[in-house]
Amino acid sequence: MRSFMSEKYATLEAYTPGEQPQDMQYVKLNTNESPFPPSDKVLEAVAEEAEKLNLYCDPECKALREELAPIFGVNPENILPVNGSDEALYLAFAAFADANTPVAYPNISYGFYPVYAAVNHLPSHVIPLKGDFSLDYREYCGLNEMIVIANPNAPTGMTIPVSEIEEILKSNPNNVVLIDEAYVAFGGESCVPLIEKYDNLLVCQTFSKSHSMAGARLGVAIASEGIIRDMNTLKYSINPYNINRMTQRAGIAAAQTSRYYLDNCKVIVENREYTTLKLKEMGFEVLPSKANFIFAKSSAISGQEYYAKLKSEGVLVRHFKKPEIEDFCRITIGTREQMDVLLEKTAKILSEKGC
Ligand code: PMP
Repeated sequence: MRSFMSEKYATLEAYTPGEQPQDMQYVKLNTNESPFPPSDKVLEAVAEEAEKLNLYCDPECKALREELAPIFGVNPENILPVNGSDEALYLAFAAFADANTPVAYPNISYGFYPVYAAVNHLPSHVIPLKGDFSLDYREYCGLNEMIVIANPNAPTGMTIPVSEIEEILKSNPNNVVLIDEAYVAFGGESCVPLIEKYDNLLVCQTFSKSHSMAGARLGVAIASEGIIRDMNTLKYSINPYNINRMTQRAGIAAAQTSRYYLDNCKVIVENREYTTLKLKEMGFEVLPSKANFIFAKSSAISGQEYYAKLKSEGVLVRHFKKPEIEDFCRITIGTREQMDVLLEKTAKILSEKGC
């Protein structure tokens, strides 16, 4: 097979998404989706909007931005809807860093950051987390670089306080500080209220996890008008109709049924605490998570083996081959029934190992 790839991407290593098996039914705890269906109102809105598929969608996503603005306490001009928050990350890396402005991010974080740096030919400044996977905000102060921090972090689930993010913002006034809040709905603290005060702050959130819409691809960038305008310049240079009309309507309907999603997030948090406790009782180390997943390891079984044995038992979790975290597996929190299956299979696997 011949490759026609341009020289500039000859060594590009693409992101590897989590498995999305289409063949058999797993207890699927590997890509941090919500186990709950979208609200009825979302389903109705999507069906209704599908009838207009012959027409282009609104490139400005005006109705959606107007619905979301009061929820975030900002103006519609401070919001850019995106095709999954991955798109916001891509636009931001492309817009706000270059050969002279590296992108700084932690060594253990979302696997797309190095890929977005590479695809845009950006120098990365990779800052190691501490031994306990915590982040020392002082290492991000006064860098004069674009800064990207997931809060809660992935795959650890750990958070840093908004007061520390504020210190980072203050000490890098001429650079964009991107806070990736993909998992903030599960107990984290959002820094959206800081947008009024810091025009260099960019917050990304998603409807994929808390709002049961991973398959619809909807995220939002929330920032000062200047940052949103810059990202729009790129968006209109690539794909003006980035959010299809069904997803725009689904987003509006989801925002109008927020009680349902808040209740679902509460259940996920309860199930997270339950699963953490039970795994700890089985001897696992579980990092303190404020996300809809936990990061766990056991001295009795390697991360790779635990992942593989769970898979053969019909339970899918995520294992990363990176040396610093290869002892761990990331387990998405699902329904109580799903977590009980995970716990039961875990007990079986450990007992087969003689533990
Ligand atoms: N940020 C983080 C930290 C994530 O884990 C994910 C999910 N893979 C995303 C952003 C992107 O999510 P989405 O594109 O579905 O909004």
